[in-house]
Amino acid sequence: MKLLDYKKPESMEEAYSLYELEGSEIIGGGAWLKLGNQTKALGIDLEKLGLNKIEDKEDGIYIGAMTNLYQLEESEILKDVYSGIISLSASKIMGVQVRNIATIGGTVCGKYGFSDLITPLLAIGAKLKFYKAGVMTLEEFMAKKGKNLDILTDVIIPKAEGNGCFETFKKTSIDFAVVNMTVVKSGNQISIAVGARPGVAKVNRIEIEEVIKQREAGTPLHDISAKVISEFNFGANHRASKEYRIQLATVLVADGLKEVLA
Ligand SMILES: Cc1cc2nc3c(=O)[nH]c(=O)nc-3n(C[C@H](O)[C@H](O)[C@H](O)COP(=O)(O)OP(=O)(O)OC[C@H]3O[C@@H](n4cnc5c(N)ncnc54)[C@H](O)[C@@H]3O)c2cc1C
Repeated sequence: MKLLDYKKPESMEEAYSLYELEGSEIIGGGAWLKLGNQTKALGIDLEKLGLNKIEDKEDGIYIGAMTNLYQLEESEILKDVYSGIISLSASKIMGVQVRNIATIGGTVCGKYGFSDLITPLLAIGAKLKFYKAGVMTLEEFMAKKGKNLDILTDVIIPKAEGNGCFETFKKTSIDFAVVNMTVVKSGNQISIAVGARPGVAKVNRIEIEEVIKQREAGTPLHDISAKVISEFNFGANHRASKEYRIQLATVLVADGLKEVLA
């Protein structure tokens, strides 16, 4: 990407008014933007706005949009949240050099189909705080079409009790996922998110009671998983066929169910 001008605003208000200018682009870590070949009139760097903190607040864990993946991986606050799946998913992304640069804000706003981080965030019901629009769920944001014209300030992790399991299947550790998945048990629900299908992650929810009933009737976890997986759309790309992804996701989700129900 080529930037014709570059600014580091001192306040959110200043950042937002710059973002209203034609041809401007918010820069998170800039790791992904840098790979593009577009020319933009203005790059807005959020570095000075204090958005790189992870804070445990009464109504949730607030992760500033400029928090990088390595901070997520190392966070003491996140290490026990839903069995540490946020930290785990971040740790599976590229090498530490990329994780030191790429941010949670750039990940969420990029809505990347290959993302390993969006999948667990969806499964745990993460919320997003935007400067103008306020709070919405990640699921709502993912369903929105068109360019995002607001600035993400925080990703909010709800404080519900629960345990979870994350898995990403890659041909090599620094490749994009062939498929990734998260299973989370919380309250009376099991949430199952599947990403890199190769489309962006989606989440489905089932009642725990329903799974227990099926188990008591002798239904193998693989069959329960196959039913859940049949409700997701899968596709093909150069990494894998649709059929391969379905088989793989079925096995991974069956393992995930076994783990959270143990
Ligand atoms: C070489 C490489 C390999 C990668 N491999 C993987 C992988 O295997 N698995 C995986 O999950 N991810 C992978 N990623 C993606 C990475 O994890 C990040 O998701 C990605 O780099 C985006 O984060 P960023 O901070 O670089 O965002 P940027 O490139 O800075 O921005 C991305 C987009 O988000 C917008 N944006 C950023 N911050 C905000 C904000 N606060 N408010 C509004 N809009 C904002 C930008 O305008 C831009 O449109 C890889 C990235 C790179 C560079």
